[in-house]
Amino acid sequence: MGKALIIGAGGVAAVAIHKCVQNSEVFEEICIASRTKSKCDDLKAKLDGGKTKITTAQVNADNVDELIALINEFKPDIVMNLALPYQDLTIMDACLATKTHYMDTANYEPEDTAKFEYKWQWDYRERFEKAGITALLGSGFDPGVTGVFSAYALKHYFDEIEYIDILDCNGGDHGYPFATNFNPEINIREVSANGRYWENGEWIETKPMEIKRGYNFAQVGEKDMYLLYHEELESLAQNMPGLKRIRFFMTFGPSYLMHLKALENVGMTSIEPIEYEGKQIIPLQFLKAILPDPASLGPRTVGKTNIGCIFKGKKDGQDKTYYVYNVCDHQECYKEVGSQAVSYTTGVPAMIGAAMVMTGKWNKPGVFNIEEFDPDPFMEELNKWGLPWVEDFNPVLVDALPEEAKKPELVR
Ligand code: NDP
Repeated sequence: MGKALIIGAGGVAAVAIHKCVQNSEVFEEICIASRTKSKCDDLKAKLDGGKTKITTAQVNADNVDELIALINEFKPDIVMNLALPYQDLTIMDACLATKTHYMDTANYEPEDTAKFEYKWQWDYRERFEKAGITALLGSGFDPGVTGVFSAYALKHYFDEIEYIDILDCNGGDHGYPFATNFNPEINIREVSANGRYWENGEWIETKPMEIKRGYNFAQVGEKDMYLLYHEELESLAQNMPGLKRIRFFMTFGPSYLMHLKALENVGMTSIEPIEYEGKQIIPLQFLKAILPDPASLGPRTVGKTNIGCIFKGKKDGQDKTYYVYNVCDHQECYKEVGSQAVSYTTGVPAMIGAAMVMTGKWNKPGVFNIEEFDPDPFMEELNKWGLPWVEDFNPVLVDALPEEAKKPELVR
């Protein structure tokens, strides 16, 4: 079918590349390009010998000219951006210059401000449309599958969705007192920011981790979860007609929260440069360097993730609720692709999203969030490629808990 240029060779890219190689009918040829070429070569060494032809390259994705040269040389049908959110715009610029489709799993965030939003990427809409190419934004799990779940719920079960709660539960245990499951810098920037949710057309801001709820997750059990701002809230608030409220909750264990708070209190999560022994260092980047590499957590993580969306709305004038979720087992993922479930649940949808564009199933020029496409073929592929989903038409709602459990509990 075609060729994909994959940028990045970290945790998520490793899974996506395994899956591209499994899906060799679509991915006949891939080029793995990243800052550290040895990581690309290691992945090639592991996966070579199948039907997909694999090449590797060194690229600094902050440099548009380098990217353009690489795209012109390899001539891919799509560029899969699995590097960091900081590289989104340079890669989009290179795609525009070469008229190549684009996809990513996280929205742009400037390196010097912990503020992510779609504004910068939505600004490319007209230029992508004119160039006749597609940019698929946010094709991981959340954002990604959560947007596909929302489009699917609206298409098949509701006339109008009024409330969405996205529940991201990681019931896994890696045995360390503190480690992050994906890039520590990105993860800590996300969870140490203020919480935010959307209600009746307005954004309501909370302190970090201010709102806590308990939930009993299928195949995982009872967990505490906290309201966070998450990027898909921004696009879903716009793309779901009639929506009254959308929130995002993520589970965290007490040990993770205690360590995070202590690190924050001593200034280790700051992105303000400081001078140390005559050298400028960014505390959060230093912290990243001493924390376990997320890729090393694979063999030691046990337990399951459960991520999904609970919808409440109307069908034929009647109230209706619907919960759709995926459960993923860390050890099963490790056995299959050598990574834990957090990378797996992101890498699989990245491959599927790219395949949707390459096969022409999703084919419209412009810049689109994932919920703007037909969800059906994507939902089918999730079942096929390792992320089967479960439906519950009578779910327990997030706020259906005793008042006591709903009280916000500040972590100091
Ligand atoms: P990693 O840190 O493991 O990998 C990032 C990769 O990008 C590394 O190979 C790194 O190279 C490479 N890279 C970084 N900067 C550059 C650059 N300037 N030029 C070329 N390559 C570069 O991150 P993850 O795999 O955990 O995450 C990848 C992406 O997925 C992130 O954007 C993250 O936000 C997103 N994500 C999305 C989720 C979702 O559900 N939507 C969930 C989890 C993650 P090097 O090896 O040299 O450092």
